Amino acid sequence: MGKIHNFGAGPAKLPEEVYDILKDEFTNFDGTGISIMETSHRTPTYFKLNKEVQDVVRNLMNVPSNYKILFLSGGGQGQFAGVPLNLISRTGTADYLVTGAWSAKAAKEAKKYGKVNMVLPPTDRYVDIPDQSTWNLDPNASYVYICTNETIHGVEFDSIPDTKGVPLVADMSSNFMSKKVDVSKFGVIYGGAQKNIGTAGVVLVIVREDLLNQALPICPSILDWTVNAKADSILNTPPMFAILVMGRVLQWIVKKGGLDKMAELATKKSSLIYDIIEESNGFYYAPVAKAVRSKMNIPFRIGSPTGDDALEKEFLKGAEALNLIQLKGHRDVGGIRASTYNAVTLEEVQTLANYMKEFYKKHAK
Ligand SMILES: *Cc1c(COP(=O)(O)O)cnc(C)c1O
Repeated sequence: MGKIHNFGAGPAKLPEEVYDILKDEFTNFDGTGISIMETSHRTPTYFKLNKEVQDVVRNLMNVPSNYKILFLSGGGQGQFAGVPLNLISRTGTADYLVTGAWSAKAAKEAKKYGKVNMVLPPTDRYVDIPDQSTWNLDPNASYVYICTNETIHGVEFDSIPDTKGVPLVADMSSNFMSKKVDVSKFGVIYGGAQKNIGTAGVVLVIVREDLLNQALPICPSILDWTVNAKADSILNTPPMFAILVMGRVLQWIVKKGGLDKMAELATKKSSLIYDIIEESNGFYYAPVAKAVRSKMNIPFRIGSPTGDDALEKEFLKGAEALNLIQLKGHRDVGGIRASTYNAVTLEEVQTLANYMKEFYKKHAK
C-alpha cells in the first residue's frame, strides 16, 4: 500500500513525526518501563505529564495567568451541556449564534438548562455569517456562544465578535491551534482534540477564573469546571493516553514554528483548493461566502450547485485510487469535503489539487 493522504474531518490525521515519538514511548513512558495507559494517575509520573501539557497549551496560545486549563472527558458534546451548566445561572439566559450544525446542537442542548436567545435568523442553509450590526444580542445574556469553525458546513469566523462585555464562549474543536487567537477576548474556549490537536477522549477547556463558582446545583461534578480546576483535572481517571497524544501534537506545533506558521500553512493549503474551485467556471462549487470560508474544512459540490451524483461518485472513486481518502462530504451537506488540518501537509494538498485539475480537464464541458 502506498502513502495514504487522509483528508478526514475527524478523527483526523495526526502528524507522522508524532507517531514516531509515540511509538518509542508507547510501552516505556518516561523511562518507567510501562505505558502511560497502565500508570496510576496519582503518581509523580502523571503529575509531570499533566503539567507539561498544560504548559505547552499556555505557551502556544499565550494563555493569560487568570485562565485555568482543563483536560476533561465527554468530548465536544459533553461541553454542549457543560457550558450552560457552568455559566447560565447568572441570568438564566444565554445568546447563541447558530452558524452550522454544531452550534445548532449546542443551542438545543443548552435549552435544557435555561433560556436560549437565537442571535441570528433561523436557516437550514449555513453558508454565511450575517453582519454583526444585524445581530440580536441580549445585554442580559450570561454568555454569548459561538462555534469558531463549523466542521460540517465549512463556515469559519474571520474575526472575534464584540460581545459588549458579555463573556464569549467558543467551541474551537476544529480550528484549535490553527492560528493565533487573543485568549483574553474569550471567557471560555474549548474543543475536542480529535480534529486538529490529537485523538478522541480529551477535551481541552480554557476558562477565565472569574467565571468559575457559578455552576447550577444540578451540574454533575465531572462537568463542573470549578471542581475540575480544584482537582487540577485529576478528579477521576483522566484519558491519559489522549492527553499524552495532545501534548506531543502541541510540542510538534512548537517545533514547526508555532501558530503563525500553522496559520500561514492553513491559508496556503486552503487557497490551493478554493482557487481551483473559483477557476473552474462552476464545475466545482463552494457554497460558503468567501469572507467566512473555512481554512480547515472545505465542502464543495461537483457538476452543479446541488451536485451531480454520478460525477461526485466518480471523483471519490478516482481519489481513493490515488490514496486520497475520507473526502466524502458529511451526509447533511453531501458532495465532497476536504479537511486541511495542521497535520495535512502542503504536499498532500497539492496532490489533491492536481487530481482536482485533472478531473476537471477530463469532465468539464
Ligand atoms: C466534532 C465536533 C464536535 C463534537 O465533538 P465530540 O467529541 O464528538 O462530541 C463539536 N463541535 C465541533 C465544532 C466539532 O467539529
